[in-house]
Amino acid sequence: MRGKAEQMNTGTKVVWAGEEEYLLQGATQVPVVHSVGFGYHDLDEWLDVALGKREGHIYGRNTNPTVHVFEEKVRLLEGAEAATSFATGMAAISGTLFTLLKPGDRVVSVKDSYGGTNKVFTEFLPRFEIEVTLCDTGDYEQIERETRKGCKVLYLESPTNPTLKIVDLERLSAVGHEVGATVVVDNTFATPINQNPLTLGADLVIHSATKFLGGHADALGGIVCGSKSLVEQIYHYREINGATLSPMDAYLLLRGMKTLQLRVERQSENALKIAKFLLTHPLVDKVFYPGLKTHVHHDVAKKQMRNFGGMMSFSLKGGFEAVKLMLPRLHLAHLAANLGAVETTAGPPRTTSHVECTPSEREAMGIPENLIRYSVGIEEVEDLIADLKQAFAYVEQQLTLGSFK
Ligand SMILES: *Cc1c(COP(=O)(O)O)cnc(C)c1O
Repeated sequence: MRGKAEQMNTGTKVVWAGEEEYLLQGATQVPVVHSVGFGYHDLDEWLDVALGKREGHIYGRNTNPTVHVFEEKVRLLEGAEAATSFATGMAAISGTLFTLLKPGDRVVSVKDSYGGTNKVFTEFLPRFEIEVTLCDTGDYEQIERETRKGCKVLYLESPTNPTLKIVDLERLSAVGHEVGATVVVDNTFATPINQNPLTLGADLVIHSATKFLGGHADALGGIVCGSKSLVEQIYHYREINGATLSPMDAYLLLRGMKTLQLRVERQSENALKIAKFLLTHPLVDKVFYPGLKTHVHHDVAKKQMRNFGGMMSFSLKGGFEAVKLMLPRLHLAHLAANLGAVETTAGPPRTTSHVECTPSEREAMGIPENLIRYSVGIEEVEDLIADLKQAFAYVEQQLTLGSFK
């Protein structure tokens, strides 16, 4: 491969981009460099690298060759100037927020951000006298109003967990910039295959690489991409605070990413077919999937996404009882908190992402007790639909349909 990564199409980038100069002695795969220290015989050279005047590595908490290849690949997929990685998605999110915010600042975000992110907003940032305003996720006017009051950071996520709400990234980024805010977008659910927030106007894009980027549920990681000046500040925070991505995890994430486009295309295709099937089933109450024409913000999703992704949720008639009966009957789904893997995973937000909320808090957030979050894998869709059908049939047999509201 001797082409320029910027000129490759996405499906080629995931395979080749960022790797070339790191392939050693004819190796076709990026090596896992486990070394903590990087040695120099020439003290002038050592000093230049340490001062950032020359490329190279000094110490594993700061930078590492394997980790750098992972950063390059995601950077090129998001069309960013720079990228820096973290040990987890949450480390990337909290590292970014703590880099950008200081006491007296204000941040505006949405109520449906990822559970851990929500905790940073409600539990940790207020400790540092940072004012947090969380808006209704689907209420663009409210988000605009609150942003226009002035804020340092506008933090968005789309689609959101668990009811797959869509936030209009282009419209709200523009409003964020009116007041000089840094606009940050968590792009984990969409992946760079389906959405590029930087081209929609965002300043920074974050991923939990643990999910779709890695895709195999065997490595944790996070990454932030954006302009060189912003990413340098965030890198400095991480280098000192220490939530560094490990070389082995970077390698696993890189290996997973080779098939990112194939996986996400398949997952998006499967998810739309399953969502359409669910709409027709008498046991299903509501289906939340941005690819459905019935989704409240389907038009916005169509405008900003190339495809609608592998995440969906649906609620069952018969309440949590029906959920409890149904989930253990699924043969082709791990009942687990993870998502974005090659295997389908399913679970109720009531016991996963929103387990710490009371039923009334969940109700206030628009999360029904009878909701199932379903992360569609790369299996053959006919098998997944057959699996859902047999589990629904079991529930119907157990419950009297007449008792459903
Ligand atoms: C999982 C997830 C995170 C957190 O990532 P970790 O790697 O688990 O720390 C952040 N945002 C979204 C949307 C997620 O799904």
